[in-house]
Amino acid sequence: MGFYKIGKVVLRSMFKKPATLMYPVVPRTWQDRTRGHIGIEEASCILCGICAKKCPTNAIEVSRDQRVWVIERMQCVQCGCCVEVCPKKCLFMNQEYTTPSTEKTIDRFSIPEQPKPAPAAESKPAPAADPKPAPTAEPKPAPAAEETAKAAE
Ligand code: SF4
Ligand code: SF4
Repeated sequence: MGFYKIGKVVLRSMFKKPATLMYPVVPRTWQDRTRGHIGIEEASCILCGICAKKCPTNAIEVSRDQRVWVIERMQCVQCGCCVEVCPKKCLFMNQEYTTPSTEKTIDRFSIPEQPKPAPAAESKPAPAADPKPAPTAEPKPAPAAEETAKAAE
């Protein structure tokens, strides 16, 4: 009876696809929501420290003076909280897992200076054309009545 059962399993397996991958010939594919490890886009980070404050395991350290963002990989539990709270959306969940290690892995990222916004160009109003008033013809006073009387004499 046992032989019959095993024979059935063997025969079925012969015509099935293997459950394993021929890794590394066939590359590993990650599911969309796989939580591998936290990544950072250094250029967008403003060193606000919100991610470090919200991290439940204190895996993140932010130093404004040294301009570094540090994560202790083995302390991170991939909860994704830091990704959600980052105001600049510069943290992301990388799907690949970190390399296994027997020692604590601490990754440091140097944060570059943020480019200062260019000062807004002062829009000086164009000098208004000075409209000179057209010379007005001065009204000549009418000859006085006395002068006209003298002229008549
Ligand atoms: S990664 Fe985001 S939350 Fe963390 S310090 Fe940088 S900007 Fe702030
Ligand atoms: S994923 Fe969670 S545990 Fe890991 S650094 Fe972010 S907040 Fe901390």
